[in-house]
Amino acid sequence: MNIIEESISVVMDSDPEVGRSIQNELERQRHTIELIASENIVSPAVLSAVGSILTNKYAEGYPARRYYGGCEHVDRIEALAIERAKELFGAEHANVQPHSGAQANLAAYAAVLNPGDKVLGMSLAAGGHLTHGSSVNASGKLYDFAAYGTDPRTGLIDYDGLEESVRAFRPKLVVAGASAYPRIIDFRRIASIAHENGALCLVDMAHIAGLVISGDHPSPVPYADIVTTTTHKTLRGPRGGMILCKKELAKKIDSAIFPGNQGGPLEHVIAGKAVCFHEAMKPEFCEYQHRIVRNSKALAEALLSYGFDLVTGGTDNHLSLIDLRPMGVTGAEMQKRLDTVYITANKNAIPDDPQKPTVTSGLRVGTPAVTSRGFTEEDMKTIAELLYLTATDYDSKRNEIAEKAFSLCESHPIYR
Ligand code: PLP
Repeated sequence: MNIIEESISVVMDSDPEVGRSIQNELERQRHTIELIASENIVSPAVLSAVGSILTNKYAEGYPARRYYGGCEHVDRIEALAIERAKELFGAEHANVQPHSGAQANLAAYAAVLNPGDKVLGMSLAAGGHLTHGSSVNASGKLYDFAAYGTDPRTGLIDYDGLEESVRAFRPKLVVAGASAYPRIIDFRRIASIAHENGALCLVDMAHIAGLVISGDHPSPVPYADIVTTTTHKTLRGPRGGMILCKKELAKKIDSAIFPGNQGGPLEHVIAGKAVCFHEAMKPEFCEYQHRIVRNSKALAEALLSYGFDLVTGGTDNHLSLIDLRPMGVTGAEMQKRLDTVYITANKNAIPDDPQKPTVTSGLRVGTPAVTSRGFTEEDMKTIAELLYLTATDYDSKRNEIAEKAFSLCESHPIYR
């Protein structure tokens, strides 16, 4: 029994219902081709740090400035995480306490905005995130958000339109970054448009943080005033968030996280972040990021060869956005079918999607998790074939697709 199975058996002995579900989830992860672009498979070291006794500790405040006693060891861990984050991204200041990407964004807004202030963000429909001003999110309720989008002919960010919107709307902050955009984003250009018009620039690099470290995506850190991220996507760390910023904003950002938006930091998760950053400093990490992009491009090419339509015609990063309309299947239906054949992906709106958000016309497919388990460019061709058969011939080929997906996972085992 390995350390992961051992920890599950400890839960099983105490609470069989929860233990069995964790065991079932482990089996699901072992036997499923994971194409959700925002997910990954962390190392046993990250898992162990997050599952450690650090969960017992309260540590409100910051290293050496805590509101509780007994913080000497968590101080060391949090200071390590901060130093490593600054070094990895070349940032002047890092706050590693945000519980999630959403928390990081809301705290960053609180640091530099007052309720009602004007902000320009990428629309959800064009691939932005809920926290970039959606009306159902606190960001859209607290601040006066307007949206920029993509060019309907190319699917690419409409930088000229963005510039016109900044000139006309005069926002205090411009937000860049996305959840479902398959191309390089010109952060330098967006930041200079913001700055020339008296606005600050925040880049949410949640999806591409790992690619930024390896140079597979240009870094926003030299240009943006604030950079937020999650730590669990391409970065392959624990579920959580982080904020990087210029020195001048450090105090405002720290106060906006604590006491502004959060209480005690999750020091077990911060330890997981520190371990993740340590892993990300190794040359193998950059090689891994290069492989994510090579796999993503191989998958996109293979999908195109099967007649799939991709938003923007391809990909530069870790994900592709498939427009399923020519295949005559919705995003929701495709996601449901894939769930029955050992493949996980998520339905996703395409720009100007005629379907409602619970249905959608698109499917987002990403390669961080499959690359973590050693899938190759050759395997991407098989995955494209399985997606094609699922879209076009599901009823008669369902068992064949499931068998192939299952055996592909068997040949690239995880947590054994
Ligand atoms: N920002 C972007 C660009 C994201 O894609 C996501 C999550 O998918 C988030 C923020 C929110 O992260 P979390 O789910 O950790 O709150």
